[in-house]
Amino acid sequence: MKVETKNENETMSFAREFAKQIKSPCVIILKGDLGAGKTHFVKGFVQGKKIKSLVTSPTFTIMNIYQEKKLKVYHFDMYRLSSSEEAEELGFYEYFDHDSLDGITIVEWPENVPELAKNYDIEITIQKLGQDKRLIEISRRK
Ligand code: ADP
Ligand code: MG
Repeated sequence: MKVETKNENETMSFAREFAKQIKSPCVIILKGDLGAGKTHFVKGFVQGKKIKSLVTSPTFTIMNIYQEKKLKVYHFDMYRLSSSEEAEELGFYEYFDHDSLDGITIVEWPENVPELAKNYDIEITIQKLGQDKRLIEISRRK
């Protein structure tokens, strides 16, 4: 499916609605250039899951954990990583393997960790169409 948004609030409210359809465990990859709106999408997603708390992690610049009761959202920003091996050394494999994943994983810059992210469930691409205009495309793998 495709949707166009005219500003960051529209992207966030779309992400809030999208979040309601997503159940754990699930791996979502989020593609798009710097400034496309990936992080804003994640913020909306977390709001849509009614999560208020951020649990910091030792690798918080790469991974943030959001939790509300039993639901956990693992938000990764792989921008600074350059290989799947690097991500595996940081212990991230368990968040990408459906046998061990106990929440929803959502990943910015999955292109930097292709081997790790290859078993994703949903791919989202955000494209900049103008200053504030964005095209959001969502597809399921398989
Ligand atoms: P990314 O994580 O993809 O690098 P961010 O979410 O951090 O991007 O930043 C997106 C930037 O683009 C923000 O400054 C935001 O205000 C701006 N923006 C403008 N229009 C939109 C839109 N329609 N959707 C999302 N962000 C938008
Ligand atoms: Mg970002």
